[in-house]
Amino acid sequence: MARKSERKFGRLTELVLGGRDQDMQFGFVNPPIVRGSTVLWPTLADFRALSGRYTYGRRGTPTSDALCSALASFEGGAAIALTPSGASACSLAILSVVTAGDHLLMVDSVYEPTRKFCDGMLKGLGVETTYYDPALGAGIAQHIRPNTKAVYLESPGSLTFEVQDTPAIAKAAHAGGAAVLMDNTWATPLFFDAHRHGVDLSISAGTKYLGGHADLMVGYVSANTAYAARLKDTHGALGLCVGPDDMFAALRGMRTLGVRLAQHQASGLIVARWLEGRPEVLRVLHPGLESDPNHALWKRDFSGASGLFAVELQPAGEDALAAFLDGLELFGMGYSWGGFESLAIPFDARPVRTATHWAPEGQMLRVHIGLEDVEDLIADLEAGLARYSAAR
Ligand SMILES: *Cc1c(COP(=O)(O)O)cnc(C)c1O
Repeated sequence: MARKSERKFGRLTELVLGGRDQDMQFGFVNPPIVRGSTVLWPTLADFRALSGRYTYGRRGTPTSDALCSALASFEGGAAIALTPSGASACSLAILSVVTAGDHLLMVDSVYEPTRKFCDGMLKGLGVETTYYDPALGAGIAQHIRPNTKAVYLESPGSLTFEVQDTPAIAKAAHAGGAAVLMDNTWATPLFFDAHRHGVDLSISAGTKYLGGHADLMVGYVSANTAYAARLKDTHGALGLCVGPDDMFAALRGMRTLGVRLAQHQASGLIVARWLEGRPEVLRVLHPGLESDPNHALWKRDFSGASGLFAVELQPAGEDALAAFLDGLELFGMGYSWGGFESLAIPFDARPVRTATHWAPEGQMLRVHIGLEDVEDLIADLEAGLARYSAAR
């Protein structure tokens, strides 16, 4: 919508207003889905001057402009680069700030495919990665070398949900001349304002809550002014772009992100508290719980929690785990999360931690709380825990 003033709006309002340009939309509320590669120029002079707003499909269309503009308002950054998945957003952000001979500090609780990228492809390109304990705050300074070009955070961590002291890490990183990268998929900018906490490149798997309906693969990186040009250059060099239908789905998901996340948060906390009180449960890893060791840090820096957390059940074998998971009616067993539906998967984080000691006693489950009636979800879990106990 044409903005009538320079007024600053709240994040929910930005989710509704962002990227809407009446002139480009023929009066419709939503932008057109523009399919296109070639853009034509009428004269040689126009061709030579690359005149006009668009030059080639990969470099931008009215559909990508609408999504990027909406995401830029939401993130409060200077530039957005869209990628075909969250994983490619992680690698794009890293490749934007390191080159041969550089050193990268990577949080030990990072999303596993990002670890794989660092240990494989990045190593091959001559970039060294060192993993650090997510509990490190200002202490990260001791690990920064003259060639450390980036410190990468993911908070809370994948699978194990450690919250990082982002402002302290950002301060130390900047003092050492390193860029601060963060995978902010769990909280989204709605619950963690990455740029305002010192993050230069904020990474999101839009596949999760942005899309919100388990029907989309997309990612993006938001850069502040200092890193906008490097992000755009790297994005162009890699030739990354997203299909028009997927961009439209991402923009559509954005409009309802606020209400969906509020519900994921509320139901997630109810289920997490209920699980905490169960005898079959050793602990619940959810930073929104007062009992969680990460709670104080989460409360200081985050304005909410999403619907994803982990549970450690009493020790039991594969049969008990199967009795629990196979009989669940409402929780599906599958990767990804952030859709409208509930999910539960078992996991073992031991092979993907190298800087910290991770040794749970019992069976670990990662749970995503969807938008179903919370009473139904609890009843499903209650029956599952009964099967679990009976099979132990
Ligand atoms: C899922 C996820 C990704 C990767 O997103 P894809 O769209 O599946 O490639 C990256 N980071 C985090 C934290 C994720 O949960």
